[in-house]
Amino acid sequence: MFFERLVLATGNRGKYREFLALLPSSFVGELVFAPELSKLAVDETGETYTENALLKARAWAAASGLPSLADDSGLEVTALGGAPGVHSARAVPGDDNARNAWLLSELGNREDRSARFVAALALVVPGGKEFVCEGVCPGRIAEAPSGAGGFGYDPLFLPDGFDASFADIPAETKNAISHRAAAIRTLLNILGQGSE
Ligand code: IMP
Repeated sequence: MFFERLVLATGNRGKYREFLALLPSSFVGELVFAPELSKLAVDETGETYTENALLKARAWAAASGLPSLADDSGLEVTALGGAPGVHSARAVPGDDNARNAWLLSELGNREDRSARFVAALALVVPGGKEFVCEGVCPGRIAEAPSGAGGFGYDPLFLPDGFDASFADIPAETKNAISHRAAAIRTLLNILGQGSE
């Protein structure tokens, strides 16, 4: 399956940058970033990442008339019972710094700092098919934020096998091991375009 133009259902430039680097040219010609469509203000009422990804992809496909790819993702911290999870973007009011400060204070000095990022993808073709899949990246929460790259909770997330955060490591390294990369590999396999 090849898409001449595919709209990414997000207003988040950090996600857009990652998808630009992650999607092969054999899959998409032009990846459209249309943050103005964020005013669609899709209510993310789903209880799962997959439901929310489908809500976003359907809304953006309907509004743009283009095939649409949505990502709904979050950080699940074991000692917090999986929070902030599906509510990651809205865990507390304010910006990424406020959410990172909130996470550190919630976690306090608990010993178990294990966590994972999860990303669900939904691909919706107007008048056509829908595809969904998920990817996961295991790691742990640092004692303090570090690094200037990435977005969201990246400065606090140390992926397994690294003593550096997602914001410390090069974007190419994050893009090789992230939850989003894993989800995209699965999507391409579902569509018969995987490299494995
Ligand atoms: P969504 O736009 O509702 O999917 O919100 C996802 C939220 O989860 C983001 O705003 C971030 O706070 C967090 N998140 C998801 N993926 C990542 C990532 O790769 N790095 C850092 N934070 C992420």
